[in-house]
Amino acid sequence: MSGKKYFLALVIVFAIQLVFIGAQSGLAQKPDGALHWYKGNTHTHTLNSDGDSAPDDVVRWYREHGYHFLVITDHDYFTDVIGLNAVFGAEEQFLVIKGIEASYEIDSKAIHINGLNPEHYILPEKGTGVVETIQKNVDAIRKAGGVPHINHPNFMWSLTAEDLKHITGCILFEVYSGHPRINNFGGGGSPSVEEIWDDVLSSGKLIYGLAVDDTHTFKEPWNKDAARPGQGWIMVRAGQLTVDALLEAMEKGDFYSSTGVDIETIDLSERALSISIRGRGMTKFRTQFIGENGKVFKEDVSNPATYLFKGDEMYIRAKIIDSNGRIAWTQPVMIKNE
Ligand SMILES: [Zn+2]
Ligand SMILES: [Zn+2]
Repeated sequence: MSGKKYFLALVIVFAIQLVFIGAQSGLAQKPDGALHWYKGNTHTHTLNSDGDSAPDDVVRWYREHGYHFLVITDHDYFTDVIGLNAVFGAEEQFLVIKGIEASYEIDSKAIHINGLNPEHYILPEKGTGVVETIQKNVDAIRKAGGVPHINHPNFMWSLTAEDLKHITGCILFEVYSGHPRINNFGGGGSPSVEEIWDDVLSSGKLIYGLAVDDTHTFKEPWNKDAARPGQGWIMVRAGQLTVDALLEAMEKGDFYSSTGVDIETIDLSERALSISIRGRGMTKFRTQFIGENGKVFKEDVSNPATYLFKGDEMYIRAKIIDSNGRIAWTQPVMIKNE
């Protein structure tokens, strides 16, 4: 090959490489500055604790069912996610986040605190009572660089609104769990988890409500007594699918929780809270705007559903219920702190 031809060949190879690199970066959807909804579950078990499936089967289920992210939270076991992300992760499409469920039983009460993305294993810490034990675990998760969320208050009827009012450094808790023995709806004189939420909010303390699966069972999809996948999830509004962007949005309350109702937009201004719901065939919707002590301030059957602030509400949150029993919960907006 002559010197001139060799040079030409080099230029062509270089040009092909440039095109290839350009195509590669074009494959990944670059953050466009806009906010997107990302669907995720922040409470999942594998064979590494009391789940029935290996981590790759667990992640595969969520990857194949329209989720964008999954936090693996085995009981007191730190499941490695590097290999899982190598197989299932894809930029702007799917992300596995490491996590743990710090689990303690004290006086026949289950104190389970999830740590999302801590840097290392967290040994569950026992205090002298429920509140101190929660606080010690929340603090340990924060110290490890993780984001804590308080799990299933009504499991074994463990946590009360009074307990939650005393916790600092944790703004997330589970308002809905797909686990069948979590007692989401209360009964027998005990409040529902949603009533607990309103009790805490009415004290002036802001906490955000997550819907989760607390998945344990993938191999018995017919079994309603099993904690199966796909029962409850969150939709996080963030600029990109990264751990930092997701966790930051969650701690700002920029997400909603759902068991099947899809929201298109949540618009908040000084004057109003307006929610646009995605239609689903002939399904009908009613939106409740709920404030202090769980009082329904307005029920709106139109779409978008809108609430105009009067100014003297302590907080307002919305609950959308569809004609087939599916629900979405938006996060409370604090209006007046007393
Ligand atoms: Zn638990
Ligand atoms: Zn769990």
